Amino acid sequence: MRTASSAATRIRCVRVFVSADMEGVAGIARDEQTDPSSPLHAEGRRLLTLEVNAAIEGALDAGVQEVVVSDGHWNCVNLLPEELHPRAELVSGFPRRLYMGAGMGPGFDAAFFVGYHAAAGTPDAVLDHTYADDRVVREVRLCGVPQSEGSLTGYFCGAFDCPVALFTGDAAAVSQMHEFVLEVEGVVVKEGLARQAARSVHPRVARERIRAGARRAVERLDNIPPMRLSGRAELEVDVVTTAMAESCERVPCVRRLGPRTVGYASEDYVEVYRLFLALVDLARAAV
Ligand SMILES: [Zn+2]
Repeated sequence: MRTASSAATRIRCVRVFVSADMEGVAGIARDEQTDPSSPLHAEGRRLLTLEVNAAIEGALDAGVQEVVVSDGHWNCVNLLPEELHPRAELVSGFPRRLYMGAGMGPGFDAAFFVGYHAAAGTPDAVLDHTYADDRVVREVRLCGVPQSEGSLTGYFCGAFDCPVALFTGDAAAVSQMHEFVLEVEGVVVKEGLARQAARSVHPRVARERIRAGARRAVERLDNIPPMRLSGRAELEVDVVTTAMAESCERVPCVRRLGPRTVGYASEDYVEVYRLFLALVDLARAAV
């Protein structure tokens, strides 16, 4: 059949970027499971690696040829290299430019966000925060709209015309992402009962859902638009203390918008994203 073979030809060329976080993985409810200094982190690493592998397998089921996985949690050394699917290449380690977006650039056709969580300040969301713990960043806005790690990284992928096709995490995180892109394939693996409590499906069930979701995401890629900001990206960051705002304000292009709020605006979202990541580091250093 001509239609089927031309679709197969198109799918064979697909390159997928996977950005992996940890708080949104099935079976994870408390900080210690995601903290590299905790003995519970070892199990978290394994659970995360297997969910990422499920997403890769789903992509390969749909005919994807190339997968780059970016470890984006904490010090970005969480995925177990030996256990990671051999068809994927791994971006890991921190500090680095572009943090959760490291490895993304021109040429990717789809982004998968695996193990993601909701924005700082979201109720009934497992381990909600935005790019730093909740003692550093209270809220991040773009053009007045509150953002999450998913949306901030999603706009970064969008700057390279790459849509976020798959998003996995807790129920609050997935519904928050749907507010930005309705078409994204969302996979819910648990429900937050409190900030550090969850009701989760079994990890194996989560992986089955993620694999199926990844396959569906690639198959209907043409109907998932890249995330784009219309016009100038106006960034506002509410940090927790005045000392943090003072630290951010040392960057000449950054404006102090309030006692604990700093801002920056540009037509170029890649620049805004990079500056935002630098501000998070400056604020964290002022704790
Ligand atoms: Zn995170």
